[in-house]
Parts: sequence; structure tokens; C-alpha cells
Amino acid sequence: MSRSLHTRIDAVRQRLREACDVAGRDSTQVTLIGVTKTHSASVAAAAFAAGISDLGENRVQELVDKQPEVPGARWHLIGQLQRNKVRDVVGRDVLVHSLDRVRLANALSARAVDTQVTQRVLVQVNVGDDPAKGGCSLDEVHDLVAYARDLPNLVVEGLMTMPPLPPAGTGPDATRPHFAALRQARDKVRQSFPEVQHLSMGMSADLEAAILEGATMVRIGTALLGPRGDGPWRKDER
Ligand SMILES: *Cc1c(COP(=O)(O)O)cnc(C)c1O
Repeated sequence: MSRSLHTRIDAVRQRLREACDVAGRDSTQVTLIGVTKTHSASVAAAAFAAGISDLGENRVQELVDKQPEVPGARWHLIGQLQRNKVRDVVGRDVLVHSLDRVRLANALSARAVDTQVTQRVLVQVNVGDDPAKGGCSLDEVHDLVAYARDLPNLVVEGLMTMPPLPPAGTGPDATRPHFAALRQARDKVRQSFPEVQHLSMGMSADLEAAILEGATMVRIGTALLGPRGDGPWRKDER
């Protein structure tokens, strides 16, 4: 197990370096987030021990369960967030990648004020208008960022997207225009709000395309940790 974990991590780091070389970027500008969803806390701890210091979960309950088991890791909530779960997230020093509506911004800010912390967020954008994915539309990005950044104790550090699956028979290059669209949205909104820097985009299948388009965070599950099974954590699904 741990042998293959190290092999996988090396392979992903190699892909990341090669993509940065092609893009003419410094690989230290790209944070590798290991997505541990459905894997046990011990797998998350092993990944952290092997040098993956940033870990991502898409469900609040898995985050709550695993965070105490991996002291020192930086955590990311990458899945959709319900307002009734906000109280379980704020105060954990987690970067929320999935702010996509005004009411969620209000709830995050209110809780951050209550607990006297600053909550860092990325605005999630549904670049492909995919009904199966969360995120505001490209047209709404500016107004949502402008609204959220004016709320107390909330800081918008960037944008995130999860593009639609590429059509059958096409490769990850089919996804690249969606990454380009997120970068253009970031460049535009950053002219008004310079703190909006990050681009969270790229997964196991398409991290190269994302890095070519300027990703500063890639979210990698399968390529790092292998296929996701029906582990015990699955029972915590909403
Ligand atoms: C699961 C997940 C990932 C990782 O996907 P892989 O294809 O396994 O790398 C990235 N981002 C989000 C939002 C996810 O839910």
C-alpha cells in the first residue's frame, strides 16, 4: 500500500513538473491538493506523511472526522456546502472552494463574525453551465465576489471550477477552454479586487490542461490515492 502510494505521488509530481515546464511556470506556484474523500483517515495521514500537506474533502462530515487525525495538514472543502453545515466548517481554518450564492456568503460571514475568525473562500463557477454541477454562472462572478468581499470576516481569495466531463471520444484537451474561461474571469475580476488570485482547477485526468491555463491549485484524488471504494466514510453521505 505505502509503496504504491509513494509511486503514485512521484508520478503526479512528475506530471505537475512537466506541465509547469511546458507552461513556463514555477511548480512551486501550484499547490497539489490530495483529495481524500471516501478514503479512511489513515490513508489521509499516510498521504500527509508522504509530503502531501494540503488535503481536500467534498463532504463536511468527512472533513470533521478526518481533520483531527491529521494534525498539521492544510484542509480544503471542495464540495457543495449547505447552509446548515456552515457552523461545522467555520473555525476549522479550512479554505472553502464552493461559495456559489449570496445566502451562503451571508451564512459564512455571520458565523465567522460569531466565532471571531476570518473565513477564506473561493467562488465556485459553473463554467460549462452543467446542471449537475454547483457554481454561479460566469455572468454572476463579478457581482458575487463584490458582494462577498464586502461582508465582514470573509475573504475571497480566488475562483474554482469543476468543468463538465469531456464528451466521449475526446481527451482532456476538450476541457481546456473551460479552464481558460475561468482564468479570463479571474483576470477580469482581479482588476477590481486584487485579492482574487487563486485558480482551483484540474483533477486527475486534466491537471496538465489546467496548469497550462494558470491553475494555482489542482485537486487530485484517483491519481494519488487510487480508485475510490465504498469505504466506511460513504455512510456519512447526506
Ligand atoms: C473528487 C473530486 C476531485 C478529484 O477527482 P479525481 O478525478 O479523483 O482526481 C476534485 N475536485 C472535486 C470537487 C472533487 O469532488
